[in-house]
Amino acid sequence: MASVLRMPEPLDPSDSVRRIRGVGPQRAEILRRAGIETVRDLLDFLPFRYEDRRVVVPIVSLTPDTPTALLKGCVVAMRKRVTKLQKMELIEVAIDDGSATIDVVWFNQPFIADRIAKGDTLLVYGRPKVSPNGDLQFDPIDWERIPPDGKGELEGRIVPVYTAVGGIPQRWLRGAVAEALTTLARVADHVPELLLEGLGLPALGDALSAVHEPREFDERLVDGTSAAHSRLAFDEFFAFQLAIRARRAIMEVAPKPRTIVINDVIRSSVRRLLPFRLTGAQKRVLKEIADDMRSSRPMYRLLQGDVGSGKTIVALVAALLAIENGHQAALLAPTEILAEQHFRRIRQLVDATRIPVVRLSGSMTPAEKRATRESIATGDAKLVVGTHALVEDSVSFRSLALAIVDEQHRFGVEQRKALFEKGELVDVLVMTATPIPRSLALALHGDLDLSVIDELPPGRTPVRTVVRGSATLPRILEYIDERCAGKAQAYVVYPVIEESDRTDMKPVTTGFDAIRAALPGRRVAMLHGRLPAAEKQSTMDAFALGELDVLVSTTVIEVGIDVAAASVMVIMDADRFGLSQLHQLRGRVGRGEGESICVLVRDESSGEDAKSRLREFAATSDGFRVAEMDLAQRGAGDMAGTRQAGMARFRFGDIVRQSGLMEAARSAAIALVAERGPASALDLAARIDRRQVRLESVD
Ligand code: ADP
Ligand code: MG
Repeated sequence: MASVLRMPEPLDPSDSVRRIRGVGPQRAEILRRAGIETVRDLLDFLPFRYEDRRVVVPIVSLTPDTPTALLKGCVVAMRKRVTKLQKMELIEVAIDDGSATIDVVWFNQPFIADRIAKGDTLLVYGRPKVSPNGDLQFDPIDWERIPPDGKGELEGRIVPVYTAVGGIPQRWLRGAVAEALTTLARVADHVPELLLEGLGLPALGDALSAVHEPREFDERLVDGTSAAHSRLAFDEFFAFQLAIRARRAIMEVAPKPRTIVINDVIRSSVRRLLPFRLTGAQKRVLKEIADDMRSSRPMYRLLQGDVGSGKTIVALVAALLAIENGHQAALLAPTEILAEQHFRRIRQLVDATRIPVVRLSGSMTPAEKRATRESIATGDAKLVVGTHALVEDSVSFRSLALAIVDEQHRFGVEQRKALFEKGELVDVLVMTATPIPRSLALALHGDLDLSVIDELPPGRTPVRTVVRGSATLPRILEYIDERCAGKAQAYVVYPVIEESDRTDMKPVTTGFDAIRAALPGRRVAMLHGRLPAAEKQSTMDAFALGELDVLVSTTVIEVGIDVAAASVMVIMDADRFGLSQLHQLRGRVGRGEGESICVLVRDESSGEDAKSRLREFAATSDGFRVAEMDLAQRGAGDMAGTRQAGMARFRFGDIVRQSGLMEAARSAAIALVAERGPASALDLAARIDRRQVRLESVD
């Protein structure tokens, strides 16, 4: 019987990298540690830069400014020598291409001398540099010996350069990827063709081929924003948006068990609540919120606006809509202190409407708590202010329609589920004063809809911001003294609590002593996170009541404290703070009438960069602009708050530079979830990007 010759199966993207030529157990292990296990993983391993080796450049045309070049020449001389000072071994190989001669210089690679001989033809890719005695030389990055009239491997193409993986040579990596590229026809493209066409993005196979073996060398390729790169980033963004929008839709299968109407009676009670006219931006976001509340699907919306932009009043109007329709609303604050402050302010604001507002706080007596819980359960309490404990423990509402959540960082999927499990498909409005750019907000909170108040109420005098060197501190303290004489209050903020070896930043404790000594006539107190809660509270209360002149503090005052008479903010070692954080601190003043000032005190030893960064900050009062500056300087990953919030991390996509793509992915995901349903959308997300199975958008 004739034996059947079995052909090997063709290489498939899902195969182990072991099937690539030259990959044994050892190399497979090295690759695995770099996250490369399958042939497809190898395709997703993108070059981090490219070398343009398409054309051979005449030596005569090289200048010290030529970034890189490919030369072809005949070896006319070779010298070996040792540098006098550093005792480095040099091999200088002079090559001549008919236009000129140049020395190619290898450092500490004596074996080169055995591989190159006079008369050889070399292809050398590298960069020109000027030698200590002023000659133009050539610093080789890669080279090969070729037949006199032949073509080399290095010639005629754009060469991808991959991140070094455990000492595996570039050439081997290139070969392995080239082999993986033979499977492109079997890489399934799951993104609908029509969608790609609309966005002008290439098919997946074409994109993968173009990133590994590009034909065009331009800025966008170098930048990682070519059409091919964009396609890969889009897949990542799209899968991310699909997954979170689908999860959201799964939570919303049933329609809300209530209807909210807005009639003339309600309109007039809203008017009674408002002591002023809403700004255009406030009206716009209020309409977005009201539309959500009237729809049959639960609201899940982020209300973003700079400090003082008037978010609280907008949220209160939303609460009023719920209450006037016979339901209840709750406001959740991140801490007891903030809950207390919200409670006081809200009571003032709703005074005219006679809406029963209650507070549920950990510090109440058991009897008070019981009575409050009772009024929440019967529905007598219409607006409830408290911490997250409100939705987490035994509190039961008669009919909770709206939860307003202050500051998003601590409110995640779990809390939202807890709300939903109360069986009410509660509308959720999350308020944040962290004005992050929209692209970042979409990456951070992709499952929330976004409303932005981008306009301050009229008549606000912006906080004057100045930058001063620390040598002027005595003068600054005198100024504080003068202002306090005129009934103003001041904050002085320090970056750290106590002296430590790890940093030379000024601690608040020594600062407090110094300021108290310098301002004997003023009432000065200290506030930092390590003080007992009761002491913190009483200090803040005293400051709010005007019983203190100067509050020397760490950044604990960053969020929340709201004292209208405080009009001086001095920030020590301001160069050590991120710009967004400085902006939050600055927002603590400028809340009352009259001019407020923010003094950024810069350490005299801080560099020019720090100085100009602070000056640039001082020149703008727009929080979104500040956030963009911060983002540009530090990158998304480092921006204040984003890391803790567990921002989704992208491998190919750059949410700052490719924000348009994120927007496109979001709209496409919303449309697809509506069209095919959440289960199918989730499934698609997993096919497009296997890494997107986890939900990373909310902490
Ligand atoms: P945010 O919560 O966004 O920091 P607030 O809601 O606390 O801002 O508002 C800041 C201040 O501006 C409050 O004293 C508020 O009463 C006032 N305010 C809000 N909206 C307006 C408006 N449209 N016109 C005048 N004052 C307003
Ligand atoms: Mg507020």
